[in-house]
Amino acid sequence: MKKNVSINSFTKEELHNYVFDLGEKKYRAKQLWKWLYVNGAKSFNEMSDIGLKLQKKLNSDLLYNRLQTDQHQVSKDGTQKWLFKLTDDKKIETVFIPESDRGTLCISSQVGCTLSCSFCHTGTMPLVRNLSSNEIIGQILAAKDSLLDWDMKNRKITNIVFMGMGEPLYNYHEVTKAIKILLDNEGLCYSRRKITLSTSGVVPIIQKLKYELDVSLAISLHAVNDEVRNELVPINKKWPIKELLSSLEVYPGVNNSRRITFEYIMLDGVNDSINDAKKLVKLLKPIHAKVNLIPFNPWPGSIYRCSSDKTIKDFADEVCYNGGITATVRHARGQDILAACGQLKSNSVRLSKEKVVKINAA
Ligand code: SAH
Ligand code: SF4
Repeated sequence: MKKNVSINSFTKEELHNYVFDLGEKKYRAKQLWKWLYVNGAKSFNEMSDIGLKLQKKLNSDLLYNRLQTDQHQVSKDGTQKWLFKLTDDKKIETVFIPESDRGTLCISSQVGCTLSCSFCHTGTMPLVRNLSSNEIIGQILAAKDSLLDWDMKNRKITNIVFMGMGEPLYNYHEVTKAIKILLDNEGLCYSRRKITLSTSGVVPIIQKLKYELDVSLAISLHAVNDEVRNELVPINKKWPIKELLSSLEVYPGVNNSRRITFEYIMLDGVNDSINDAKKLVKLLKPIHAKVNLIPFNPWPGSIYRCSSDKTIKDFADEVCYNGGITATVRHARGQDILAACGQLKSNSVRLSKEKVVKINAA
């Protein structure tokens, strides 16, 4: 085994195989898994019941490091954002949004994104690379450390959303691996309903997702006709609205209690008319859908403006009261630290201008 393999890159099955190959008893894998994902140990040396011999072997075979926190910001509304520095010096962002009844961790799946949606700050970064499952899980472990969130009975991070940097379905293999680790009921133990994957609409992979993982799904729709969606979400040229929606009409397992969320960004004068709202209702009627309206979050250099509060309310009322489809408005959180949707972008110049709580100085 080479020393550059991290233990967090193993699924449970892979960990069992590794332990088996070492000639260790089966229960050792179980003990290790518990130290990693229930107790939150930070080194092999802390794993007191696995024996010195195995500790030594693990130390020589495998890596077990937390992501390095480069910067940690706390918004005045309680939202927290971490800038993590990866081993190749690339940086990613992770955001924690506390609410009265839950705490949501918004994680990244890629460094940057290849899909240049015109309203998204992340989309202006060239894709540098996909994250490994280890780096995806690493965001959760580091956030749990930072939030002192290792009490499983009273946890702060109750929900996990793939809504940070990147298109998760363009990194399907590693995202799948990470989700399997999240779901494991002897480890981090998140239920399928508490994990939401947001996609701009990679139709062929959406189908696989359902059968292989069955987590909650959010679709970044944002427009009701192809002309506008081609502009906003260029992947629409490959998989247009009709194709995207018809793949969801037959999405198995979706029902009234488990609906697909359609994210719809509110852009002044672009997609926010009452006619757009009516068309949205018509498009979504055949699907068990709910709508999440996202007020546009501005970023330096963006070309759009957010719709007015009244326009957003009228749009929501049209969808909800006249159209009969649940519509909620996502309140922007952490705007003062550029932690709201679509504002994520690693940029040390920008960060240096902001009020930053610097922990873990590099
Ligand atoms: N790539 C995936 C997931 C990450 S983006 C996707 O596109 O779904 C998460 C959500 O934030 C998406 O719905 C995206 O459209 C939205 N978003 C991006 N930029 C935004 C901005 N500036 N203001 C508000 N929402 C934005
Ligand atoms: Fe990528 Fe999603 Fe941003 Fe589009 S909205 S550029 S798919 S991260």
